Amino acid sequence: MTYKWNYDVLIIGAGLAGYTAAHFTAKSNLSVMLLEKSRTTGGRAKTNIMNGHYFNLGPHAVYRKGVGYAILEQLGIRVSGQSPKLDGELYDNGSTHAAPFYLGGMLSTTYLNWKQRLEWLNAVWHIFRFVPEHAADQTYQQWIEKHAHSEKVRHLLRSLGRLATYCHAPELVSAKTTLSHIKQALGGVLYLDGGWQSMIDQLHNRAVMLGVEVKAGNGVKQIEPLAGGGFRIVLTDGEELLTKTVIYTAGPQELLGMLGDHALPVQQSFFSRIIPVKGAVLDVALSQLPRPQRLFAIGTEEPYYYSVHSNYARLSDNRNAVILHVQKYLHPADQADPKHVKTELEHVLEQLQPGWKSYKLAWRFMPHVTVNQRLPKAGDNEELKQALTAMPGLYLAGDWSSPDYMLLDGALSSAKAAAERLISQFER
Ligand SMILES: Cc1cc2nc3c(=O)[nH]c(=O)nc-3n(C[C@H](O)[C@H](O)[C@H](O)COP(=O)(O)OP(=O)(O)OC[C@H]3O[C@@H](n4cnc5c(N)ncnc54)[C@H](O)[C@@H]3O)c2cc1C
Repeated sequence: MTYKWNYDVLIIGAGLAGYTAAHFTAKSNLSVMLLEKSRTTGGRAKTNIMNGHYFNLGPHAVYRKGVGYAILEQLGIRVSGQSPKLDGELYDNGSTHAAPFYLGGMLSTTYLNWKQRLEWLNAVWHIFRFVPEHAADQTYQQWIEKHAHSEKVRHLLRSLGRLATYCHAPELVSAKTTLSHIKQALGGVLYLDGGWQSMIDQLHNRAVMLGVEVKAGNGVKQIEPLAGGGFRIVLTDGEELLTKTVIYTAGPQELLGMLGDHALPVQQSFFSRIIPVKGAVLDVALSQLPRPQRLFAIGTEEPYYYSVHSNYARLSDNRNAVILHVQKYLHPADQADPKHVKTELEHVLEQLQPGWKSYKLAWRFMPHVTVNQRLPKAGDNEELKQALTAMPGLYLAGDWSSPDYMLLDGALSSAKAAAERLISQFER
């Protein structure tokens, strides 16, 4: 049967992965449609403006040494902003200590004794020397137990893992992915002027210039593989489109719903077991900081994060406003009451910035946001790879679908890889 195709490529989801895939495919002269179910595009890289203050969806930083940064450069996307200094503090059961993430902190910290400092140095040395293939099926916890003996150094390594990956499940998460991301994070991060929306705006404008048809406010309900290749796509408003190929960048479980009975056993079995990485975030704008020197803190035993992003990026129309984020990294088994978590985060901020509530300009609390669509478990790469390529013509991308990376790096690298595989299908 011959079909009258609407598009060569239909991309589902206009977040970072969707836009990246759109760029690469449109540059190869394929006809491309990018479909987004929300009224606005950008996905989790959106920045919301509240009373003139720019709130990313919680704390967002780009790894300067990451594969994602290199892809952004390749696409001609310019990011401006500065790198926060590493001279922050450790937050340990209500008290603070210099963080030993730089030489001064290493010498002055009251968290570690001299023996533990040497052990910490040794562990950091192992991180830099780490070869991904050697940690194939290890969990991060197993790696930590091998390379650190003191409980305090183990806490520090777990904190560093959370900081780099947002995962708070060292007993599950892959050592390989965690250590690769820690290495990247230690290479420096950037907080972006105007928030991550600045990347989305550029990606959108360039996609449109490349001829990509971007349609927001209409999601995909159904993906039906056609006999002989290609797909019929049913949208939420009932419209039907025929496309030769699909690049799918939304969540793995939603994909099973869209495929329905067409889902293959390998997709069914793997995607239904995926668990996401979640966080609780408090985004805050203040007229001033009660303790202006206190810009960054990371919990040791407790999974907290605090950082003043506006010190390094333009994030408000009010030049004097301070934009900061407080976060709790959530374990997959966490069932905490959102009200309790909000009180917890406010309490952490009160300890770091006493009296902050008197300076509040804008704020929001999100108790359960998805940071990454898949917690990369040790040993799940083979199944992931099989599920990714199981259905010819359906290419999968997004922060959950990279065997090596997560977050922005996972979203962009998987989108580029999916687009390249698709382009070579057309060339064949
Ligand atoms: C609190 C927080 C902090 C973070 N910090 C960092 C950080 O510091 N560094 C970092 O690298 N990353 C960070 N991230 C992660 C980063 O934001 C994401 O990894 C990235 O934005 C994911 O992009 P994506 O395109 O894969 O997915 P998404 O942005 O989720 O895009 C998928 C899109 O698909 C759309 N969609 C869903 N269903 C359908 C449908 N049926 N039809 C059409 N469209 C559909 C969605 O609406 C969405 O727009 C953070 C995330 C959070 C929440």
